[in-house]
Amino acid sequence: EAALYIVATPIGNLEDITLRAIATLRSVNLVAAEDTRHTRRLLQHLEIDTPLTAYHEHSSDAEAARLCQRIVSGEAVALVSDAGTPMISDPGYRLVRAAQAAGVRVVPVPGACAAIAALSASGLPSDRFLFAGFLPARAAARRTRLTALARESATLVFYEAPHRLQETLDDLVLCLGEAREATLARELSKAFETLHRDTLGNLVAFVAGDSNQCRGEIVLLVAGCTAPEPEVDAPLAELMQALASRLP
Ligand code: SAM
Repeated sequence: EAALYIVATPIGNLEDITLRAIATLRSVNLVAAEDTRHTRRLLQHLEIDTPLTAYHEHSSDAEAARLCQRIVSGEAVALVSDAGTPMISDPGYRLVRAAQAAGVRVVPVPGACAAIAALSASGLPSDRFLFAGFLPARAAARRTRLTALARESATLVFYEAPHRLQETLDDLVLCLGEAREATLARELSKAFETLHRDTLGNLVAFVAGDSNQCRGEIVLLVAGCTAPEPEVDAPLAELMQALASRLP
């Protein structure tokens, strides 16, 4: 059926692809991939010979319009990223909006996502979580972001590049305190998968003492803030109550 299919692919272990994803990639007219060489290898492994085209974060609006036009004219197009679920720290957002604007059906074909896989085995509260993606690379911007998240009570989920792990852990200790629990999830679904839960302070030492922990692909999860709200002083509380009573 003519539609834009948002297809999740594995995050490491090639067996983590769904039957529906395989059927979709096989039956669509075109697969739009973040990196065609990367996706060609996956399709070859699955013995699928659907034509590929590139769609990545630098793709133009004209490119999105061209793909939507093909769907409007009756074709089915699948969007995939290099790994996991498209849109989750991956390109595709503008394409989905273009498809919606063109009246094209957008169909998610769910599957692997590193953030969700990590959360599911993290041992941290999972009833509420905030996916915070990649932190800014520059220290000042990173600390500003972390300070803004310091009182968030939901579990925080970050993607991190291996060469920045140590700096990020140091900044987490600085902004959230060393006692906060966190889980380092590395190389999920792959040969050197590790999940390690401890306080932020102990995680800094754990990573410093084992250089392997700074390799590979990383999800870092941090428990939310459990400290009570800081006391609001009495006159301010009265003022806020007075204002609230005047709200419609
Ligand atoms: N769309 C992907 C998803 O659904 O998870 C994420 C794409 S993002 C560009 C890549 C980042 O995801 C990596 O830098 C890492 O933080 C995380 N990641 C991807 N695969 C992973 C894995 N197997 N183990 C741990 N983290 C992974």
